[in-house]
Amino acid sequence: MDQPPLTKKVFFVMGTRPEAIKLAPAVEAARRHGSLTALLVSTSQHREMLRQALAPFGLTPDIDLDVMTANQTPARVAAEVLRRLEPHLERERPAWTVVQGDTTTALAAAWGSFYAGVPVAHVEAGLRSGRMDSPFPEEFNRKGVAVAASLHFAPTERARRHLLAEGAPDESIHVVGNTIVDAVHRIHAAGTPSGEAGGRTLVLVTLHRRESFGEPVRRVLEAIRELAREREGSVRIVYPVHPNPSVDRPAREILGGVPGVDLHPPLDYPDFLALFSRARLVLSDSGGVQEEAPSLGVPVLILRDVTERPEVVESGWGKLVGTDADLILAESRRLLDDETAWKAMTSGPNPFGDGKSGERIAELLATRP
Ligand code: UDP
Repeated sequence: MDQPPLTKKVFFVMGTRPEAIKLAPAVEAARRHGSLTALLVSTSQHREMLRQALAPFGLTPDIDLDVMTANQTPARVAAEVLRRLEPHLERERPAWTVVQGDTTTALAAAWGSFYAGVPVAHVEAGLRSGRMDSPFPEEFNRKGVAVAASLHFAPTERARRHLLAEGAPDESIHVVGNTIVDAVHRIHAAGTPSGEAGGRTLVLVTLHRRESFGEPVRRVLEAIRELAREREGSVRIVYPVHPNPSVDRPAREILGGVPGVDLHPPLDYPDFLALFSRARLVLSDSGGVQEEAPSLGVPVLILRDVTERPEVVESGWGKLVGTDADLILAESRRLLDDETAWKAMTSGPNPFGDGKSGERIAELLATRP
């Protein structure tokens, strides 16, 4: 009698939008790979945004830990993920738990898997800002994942060096590129970007970092309002607002009803990429947006004081502007008005990969003991 082929069971654990977008290419590659069985485990840390991000890839969770509550904190999310993941690890005994990035889901799933004796593989390993307070709590989360992981998928050489400096064995680190490039290729049919939107120049905005909540968020929103006022009729600012009340409330208060500003709920990934590719510039504190900018040919003004993705600055595609209203306005005006400055920011190489990261990850999961 034919024996069923032996496959390695792999848990891909995710809880938020960026994890879904960046793990989807690895899940797809694992499902194409003959020797892996990929199980998608959702913690539902951000239930609705996770579902929305998975939909364009045609993926749905196999296991849902359903941890999301109103007013959740990182500590409560971590505690619930630890508690609810354990029985699934015990029952399925996967060969790997794969986590992505720097979320509380990633840290808690890595921690729980380590306790259960399940090896941990980390996608987008080795990013460091060098500051535990920024981004908070992400720097802590990703360092914690690195301690638990025995297989590190670093997106760049710099990320590899960070891991080596922290004592990760050389043979456990593989530079595979960032799966975000795979995701953009998969979802966005590349076209020539043009900054125009119904006769007006398009500016895209996203904002959600915890360390900016309060005054910094308000300063950014006021700078955007000022930009909209001085460019009324010639610039259209599109801003899909993160549903976190610490952003949503001030966004509505400061930008609601301002001519030239379109506030939206979070956009589906294909719609967001389509808009992004047509933008003249993007103002964002998002990690994923910084990484997508070179693939889409759009410069990004980074609304943060430090970035753990300095490659985007070195390759020219990004510039740190923090949350200083004057600097945000000055750099936005420059990119809107100065063709040479715009071209200088949009001619560098893509430092984040070639769109084949998912395949490399699947192959390594299959072949590493
Ligand atoms: N994104 C999206 N719809 C939106 C805004 C962003 O699909 O309305 C995508 C974006 O393309 C990127 C990801 O969400 O891939 C970034 O997620 P987020 O900014 O929440 O997290 P971060 O990347 O900062 O961890």
